[in-house]
Amino acid sequence: MDTLAKLQILSGAARYDASCASSGSRREGAPPGGTGNTSQSGICHSWSDDGRCISLLKLLLSNDCRYDCAYCVNRVSNQVPRASFTARDVVDLTLEFYRRNYIEGLFLSSAVMQSPDQTMERMVRVAETLRIEERFGGYIHMKIIPGCSSELVRRAGLYADRISVNIELPSQASLQRLAPQKEKAAILEPMALIGREIQESLVERKKIRSAPRFAPAGQSTQMIIGASPETDFQILRLSQGLYKKMNLKRVYYSAYVPVSDDNRLPVLAAPPLLREHRLYQADWLLRFYGFSAEEILSDDAPHLDESFDPKTAWALRHPEFFPVEINRADYATLLRVPGIGVTSAKRIVAARRFSLITPEGMKKIGVVMKRAKYFITCSGRPFEKTDRQPALIRQQLLLGEGSDLMSPRQLVLPGLYV
Ligand code: SF4
Repeated sequence: MDTLAKLQILSGAARYDASCASSGSRREGAPPGGTGNTSQSGICHSWSDDGRCISLLKLLLSNDCRYDCAYCVNRVSNQVPRASFTARDVVDLTLEFYRRNYIEGLFLSSAVMQSPDQTMERMVRVAETLRIEERFGGYIHMKIIPGCSSELVRRAGLYADRISVNIELPSQASLQRLAPQKEKAAILEPMALIGREIQESLVERKKIRSAPRFAPAGQSTQMIIGASPETDFQILRLSQGLYKKMNLKRVYYSAYVPVSDDNRLPVLAAPPLLREHRLYQADWLLRFYGFSAEEILSDDAPHLDESFDPKTAWALRHPEFFPVEINRADYATLLRVPGIGVTSAKRIVAARRFSLITPEGMKKIGVVMKRAKYFITCSGRPFEKTDRQPALIRQQLLLGEGSDLMSPRQLVLPGLYV
């Protein structure tokens, strides 16, 4: 099989890994004569540590898997064309694409070939060859194959910018049922090791500037959503634990795409993309807004509201917290207001040092007033009646601005939307 045929198989097989930011887009291509197609495999986009968007050659080293995970297109029992690259193939492809200015780096994952160690060894060889022999300075994101040796994990971290171990499913029970050859410990141990190595490398580099950097863009993981019965609350609590204990930079949520028939899997009309989107929003609250999973969801209400983003849903459940006075509230309180993000909260705090914020000033600062106006006062003056019931605010937010039903005369049945 020639390299192009392999490239078609192995870039296509890598599409289901969501840890690359453009993976979820479904634009099927421009009209005849147009340019561009986000559904084509091969090159994906990601974010570097300093916030730049970078294009990556996204490949599997091999799709010839000996495992049989129920949800995976590459599982051993599926009849699909198989291919494997040598380490040199991947090095050459990366350099060729880079020299033509198609990419700025490499995203490399793999199915499990003969064993986790044999597969990981070949992947590490790609990174070592690129960095040492070819003096390649571009970005490398490398997956760790669960079950490989600690030594290989350490070597991968020395050459890759970001490394990740996919947790795949949110519980041990689901892992046993859908991916029986995978073990939770084999996933969590390398994650913990990577977290420790990243920390140690940061400490070491403070003492000795030339000390080697370990995965400088951090570690991430991916979880499949909707292939197993866990609630959003279980998923968020797991992510919260991973951020706290494993020093993770990012958890990616990947809506389950039905790609194989297996009676252990749910029958879905379409991938649960809205659920995936809400989980990303809730994850953002965990990482940047000071929320805990237990504030967002509970055992009694374990699923995210489909109608509202998680911060608005929280605000509607906590009328006692509002209204928030824009000219007095501290940064953490401002962050809890729907329509105020990290940037606008920082701008409000900075601007208040010089003068009081006015309603016009809030719009300039970037506050999304159509959401925030129900939850704030500005120098004591409300934008909307502050004694409104959450049910009414909920209805108005659902209907959006400009609707006839926004009229104050609109009949509202209390509790209708609760
Ligand atoms: S290990 Fe499982 S998820 Fe990974 S490629 Fe093989 S079958 Fe797919």
